[in-house]
Amino acid sequence: HDVWHSTPFAPPDAIFALTAGYQQDSFDKKVNLGVGAYRDNDGKPFVLPVVRKAKQILASDDSLDHEYLPIAGLPSFVKATSKLIFGADSPAIKENRVVTIQTISGTGANHYGGAFLSRFYEPWLGKSKEEKIIYLSNPTWANHKSIFNSTGLTAADYPYYDPKTIGLDLVAFLDFLRKAPKQSVFLLHACAHNPTGVDPTRDQWKEIAQIFKEKEHFAFFDCAYQGFASGDLDNDAWAVRHFVEEAIPLLVCQSFAKNAGLYGERIGALNIVASHAGDSEGGADRIRSQLLILQRQEISNPPTFGARIVGLILSDEAMFEQWKGDIKTMAHRIIDMRKQLHELLVNKYKTPAPGPNGWEHVINQIGMFTFTGLNPDQCKAMVERGHIYMTSNGRISMAGLNEHNVEWVAECIDKAIR
Ligand code: PLP
Repeated sequence: HDVWHSTPFAPPDAIFALTAGYQQDSFDKKVNLGVGAYRDNDGKPFVLPVVRKAKQILASDDSLDHEYLPIAGLPSFVKATSKLIFGADSPAIKENRVVTIQTISGTGANHYGGAFLSRFYEPWLGKSKEEKIIYLSNPTWANHKSIFNSTGLTAADYPYYDPKTIGLDLVAFLDFLRKAPKQSVFLLHACAHNPTGVDPTRDQWKEIAQIFKEKEHFAFFDCAYQGFASGDLDNDAWAVRHFVEEAIPLLVCQSFAKNAGLYGERIGALNIVASHAGDSEGGADRIRSQLLILQRQEISNPPTFGARIVGLILSDEAMFEQWKGDIKTMAHRIIDMRKQLHELLVNKYKTPAPGPNGWEHVINQIGMFTFTGLNPDQCKAMVERGHIYMTSNGRISMAGLNEHNVEWVAECIDKAIR
């Protein structure tokens, strides 16, 4: 008897299927705008200069061995990563209320965040999976729903993006926050919302935080792009820090895939802010002890290499400065591509815009992605006629654009729309 006889075929991952199509395509002007990884102006993967330097330092350090790391992760990394997101002067850090654990990049942090809430979030104790609802922005990163459904939670949507304006639907979002049951759990993208590139302004974040406070909602921050959005690490952490100041219960998932270009090294962290330090009820030490159990069950000990690289960069002043420069290089190349694409669509092709504000959204959106406003048929035309690989929701990775292909992409958008 075949013990796997009833295993159904799973649908292929849309993004990876797109990349496979791109690789098989022999057209010389083909472009891959699907994948969420930074590329340089020649379309090549980019190893940050500061990462190269860190690798050299590690390679020449004979004292490094291959022993297991502590369960919580490399201490120098763990300490520095929480300061990076909350700020060294954060009240939560000063009061020893932050619990941080090294994770398998942002995905692992999200996974632990879901699992931890499922086990210990007080308002959910004794509740069924169906009652443990985590609200996700509509739309969100394609993997969120699947991660949370697999950690004992039930994923549901909250309104976020308005296709009519190609912008934030703040009214519907705030209304939803107000009407949700008290102490609901909401996932928020800390910056550079994936896939829309639409972030709230600071004033809008303040309004959002105000309702979180009133309704005692829990903020599950996913921060996969700190520094990558605006080119400035502190600026991109503003929303998280504002929520901490407002004493809203929260956790933050961090990833160094994008901002340090360490995609394959799988280095990230989960930070839970407790209401107080110590080991009494609700204290940080209790939370830490349970996170260690979770880590032990899942991976025993986290991997060393990425943690050593990031730990080094964050704890050496000169290297930290160099990293900030490298981040600016990436963020500003993307911002520059936004300007060039906008200019071509508006002035060269005079392409009719899909939204009410012309092509402004191409410039206003932030981070790796732009939601172009192209409909599924137009996206299909981009792939089939232009050999430009993009998902059917109209999202393009700005990192896939460069000075050699932006003209062709603009020309194809123009043709797809007319
Ligand atoms: N969260 C969001 C919103 C993302 O866009 C990504 C990557 O695309 C991740 C988390 C996790 O990425 P990684 O596990 O590679 O750090």
